[in-house]
Amino acid sequence: MIEIKNNLEIIQSKIVKACERSGRNPAELEIIAVTKTIDIESIDYALDCGINSIGENKVQEIMDKYPKIQKPVKWHLIGHLQTNKVKYIIDKVDLIHSLDSISLAEEINKRAAKLSLIKDVLIQVNVAEEESKFGIGYDEVDSFIEQLQGFDNIRVRGFMTIAPYFEDPEQVRPYFRRLKQKFDEYQKKELKGNDIEFLSMGMTNDYEVAAEEGANLLRIGTGIFGARNYNV
Ligand SMILES: *Cc1c(COP(=O)(O)O)cnc(C)c1O
Repeated sequence: MIEIKNNLEIIQSKIVKACERSGRNPAELEIIAVTKTIDIESIDYALDCGINSIGENKVQEIMDKYPKIQKPVKWHLIGHLQTNKVKYIIDKVDLIHSLDSISLAEEINKRAAKLSLIKDVLIQVNVAEEESKFGIGYDEVDSFIEQLQGFDNIRVRGFMTIAPYFEDPEQVRPYFRRLKQKFDEYQKKELKGNDIEFLSMGMTNDYEVAAEEGANLLRIGTGIFGARNYNV
């Protein structure tokens, strides 16, 4: 357990240093603790250490954990979301990071309307155009956002990307920089009914580069909790 606290302190100081290098205010960045496969006790401990947001990539895992986490926390769905599972999490998650199709937007909009909610979403962008990754292409972002304008129960809050994995995180910098440009462009546009505020990028391997390049939601799992055990 104490390791979680130590890990968080190390990560926080690295974020502060990354902010110093890039002239940013560390208070503008939030760590989302990625809790997939992690037990409730460890999650509770991370919340005691000052974590306010947790990220899960599977709907089933959110369903299992949701009633067991009593402390106040924001839930982030960071993994791919299937249309037929929207109904299970629509009233549980605070931010969906993985909007990547109009059919998914239709379903989120419909379910949110039923509950009189306005759902906050990020558009997942596959900046590096990797075959293996979800997300819309960078060049599709403008037309995608245009198509979302009719959905009154969805509020676009920004963008998310999962960078390609490189041994040397320096190599992901161009992808992060590109998405930051799109983010800046849309922050200036002030689209009606939307409120562009979040740029979700950076994981254990590359969060320092992401922090330097303007991310404000960092999704960190292994760096906090250690290697995941997929057999649990
Ligand atoms: C698992 C996961 C993370 C965290 O990955 P780590 O390398 O453990 O920090 C971040 N984002 C997404 C979408 C994930 O699925």
